Order: sequence, then structure tokens, then C-alpha cells
Amino acid sequence: MANSKILFTIDVEPDLHTGKYEGITTGLKTAESIFSKYNIKPILFVTSDCIKKYPEIFLELNKKGWEISFHGLTHKRFDSLSFEEKEYEIKESLRIFKKFNLKPKGFRAPQHSIDDSTLNLLEKYNFEYDSSYTPLNLLQLIFFPKKIGLWIRCFFSPRRTWQIRKNLIEKPTSSFLLPFTSLTLRIPPVSLLKLYFKFIKLLYAEPIFYCHSWDFIKVRGSRIDGLFPSSVFQEKLIRLLKWTKQKN
Ligand SMILES: [Zn+2]
Repeated sequence: MANSKILFTIDVEPDLHTGKYEGITTGLKTAESIFSKYNIKPILFVTSDCIKKYPEIFLELNKKGWEISFHGLTHKRFDSLSFEEKEYEIKESLRIFKKFNLKPKGFRAPQHSIDDSTLNLLEKYNFEYDSSYTPLNLLQLIFFPKKIGLWIRCFFSPRRTWQIRKNLIEKPTSSFLLPFTSLTLRIPPVSLLKLYFKFIKLLYAEPIFYCHSWDFIKVRGSRIDGLFPSSVFQEKLIRLLKWTKQKN
């Protein structure tokens, strides 16, 4: 396959279903061993409670050149918070990041729950970019059941980096009906995945892929992980890295 520069990103938060932190203590080590073979430094969007709990892990990765950005205080959906609660989450998180000499450049809303007032606050607190929009994502209808207008706006939003506020850019994650994410890597066979990836490359000049810290561990109690385990995800991620020929 031809060269295609993918931006790899990992959302880092307590583990799905269990709320434990194995994805951080174990999963990120696995992620690092995979990505470092291809000389790729993914961007991490981290909830600040995780920074507070395991600062040394993030400081170490940051020292290695991994960007540490922001994914909420405790992974609450931003569109379910009041304006005051949103502002508190941002201010408190900036305080936590600063305590460990970290400064988040970007933000990804938990479950991509971005809205106008959150974007205004990101601009107010000098973030450089948001990465919560996902154009062409049918699956997101599940997550925006009562906000159809917002979903439509995201669905038809630009498939490239664009200026969403005067001093804030949007780096949308990629999608073609299904988001370019760990779930989409886990389920289809490799042949279908290749076809899907061709569409992604056609639609996006610089595709943005995302997965989670808990994608790199066995998630107990997850049906998806039972049927399409983390080991399958990791194998397919390696294939994707090989397809993109980013190996130096
Ligand atoms: Zn998340």
C-alpha cells in the first residue's frame, strides 16, 4: 500500500467495565513496545485523575517525546455538564497537569461529547486544538441520541484540520461510516479492513486513528473483548503500521 501518514492517538482513562488502571500500568507498556518499533510517538489524551495517580508513567512517556493532552477530569461526558462544571473540570485539570510540569495542547472530549460552550472554554484556556469531531461517523448516532443537530454538524464537518474558533483548530478523528478506531480494527477480517483503509486514505489526507489504553489489555467482562480479543487488535494494529510503511 502507498504511504499514508497516519496520526495515532490513544485515549487514556480508567479501564472499561472494571474502572481499574491496568490499561495504564500494563497496556501502555505494550503500546510503547509496538509503536516504538515503527518509530511512532502517539498522542495520548489522558484524564487528569490518571495523571494524578500515575504521574511517573506519563512523565516518562513525555520525556520520550509522546504528547500528553487532555481527556477530561474523570471521563464524564462534557455535554452532560453545566457550564460551571465544564470550566471547573478544565481549570482543575490544568492545575494537575501543571503540578507535574505538563501542559496539554489538545483536548478530546470523553465519547467525543464536544459542544459549543466547551469549544469556547478550550479557546479561553489557550488550548491549541480540539480532536473530538468525527465526520462521516454513523456509529456516533448512538452517542448523540438527543442531539441530532450536533450529530449532523459533526457528520458533515471538514475532513481535515480546520479553524473551529479564532484561536482554536479542530483535528477531527477519521471515519468512514464507522470510526477509524480500535473497534473497527478488531471486528472485520483483514480483507475488509484493507478496503476500509483504502476509503479512509481517499477521504482523509492525514487520517487520525484512535484507540484506548484498555485496548492493550484483556478487559474482563467485555463481550467485545471476549469475541475479538486485545491480541487480535494488536495484531491488526501491527498490520496497519506495516501497511502505512512508516517503519524507518
Ligand atoms: Zn475516553
